[in-house]
Amino acid sequence: MLDLGSRTGSFAAEAWACITICLDAEVPGAHPRRFVAARAEALPFRDRQFAAVISNHSLEHFEALGPSLDEIGRVLDANGFLFVAVPDSSTLTDRIYRWLARGGGHVNSFTSAEGLARLVSEKTGLPHAGTRVLCTSLSFLNRANLPGRPPRRFLLFGGGSERVLRMLTYGFRKLDRLIHTRTCVYGWACYFGSGVSVETETWTNVCVRCGSAHPASWLEEEGRVKRRSYFCPQCGTKNYFTNDDEYGFLR
Ligand SMILES: [Zn+2]
Repeated sequence: MLDLGSRTGSFAAEAWACITICLDAEVPGAHPRRFVAARAEALPFRDRQFAAVISNHSLEHFEALGPSLDEIGRVLDANGFLFVAVPDSSTLTDRIYRWLARGGGHVNSFTSAEGLARLVSEKTGLPHAGTRVLCTSLSFLNRANLPGRPPRRFLLFGGGSERVLRMLTYGFRKLDRLIHTRTCVYGWACYFGSGVSVETETWTNVCVRCGSAHPASWLEEEGRVKRRSYFCPQCGTKNYFTNDDEYGFLR
């Protein structure tokens, strides 16, 4: 498996029974054992060497997007699997992120899930299997995730206070349900490969601290929802709960 543009790794690779290689243009301070420094448009691997490529929030950073997608298609097995997640640059969250981070290194902007799926499919030769809408938790604004003092612009968001972010993201979701806007949306996760079956329901409950999403039905079945709130199964942070069934319009 190739974890492309992942710095120190975009997921817990050790949990999977396969060899994962992390690749990034620059070598991060502490990197995993299997790390390769290279650019995405010139991958130093043989043709069809990988069973899967994971591009988790990296396509928006690639300066040579077309050639990078060609390379993904070249190193992937024809029966392989590709996961691509990117921000939707038309969303409020991505605008806030780019405003605060002065661009945040996003050189490619994606505004259509269909357009993105078509482009990736054409370039890599893999069929599109499904797309999931990703919801925001504004966790990049959370003071608990920031080293040192937050910049002055953060004052607009309660200085990155977890309580303010919890209310803000809950307010976004309620507003969307009421008037069918997309303020709670952040981006998309697209899946590619033959015979791949994917779950594409939108998970609206995303943790304000760690950013992990959980299905509403699972949180309820597990008895984790108390008084319209739940504590994140990943990091224990309190979040306000919304019912995914009410957000079918976001697809
Ligand atoms: Zn969490």
